[in-house]
Amino acid sequence: MPLIQCHECSGQVSDHARTCPKCGAPVIATIKRRQKQMRVALVVRLSFALVIGIVLWFFCIICFSKYWHRSKTCSNPIHKGVPV
Ligand SMILES: [Zn+2]
Repeated sequence: MPLIQCHECSGQVSDHARTCPKCGAPVIATIKRRQKQMRVALVVRLSFALVIGIVLWFFCIICFSKYWHRSKTCSNPIHKGVPV
């Protein structure tokens, strides 16, 4: 856990500290690291949503294609399988 210099009071602060223990100023390294973590989390969530979307899209296409093939044939048992 390296010590960094506070941008407000120039005191020594842990780079994992949220605020400076001397003056209470927020530690910039912690803020930047948190922003980076939030960005990574956002990318992971968007990627997950994209994968789910693609899977649902394929599922819909498969379901729709089955319905499409069924609707093109006559439902009368005498004409079973005869295209309309
Ligand atoms: Zn400080």
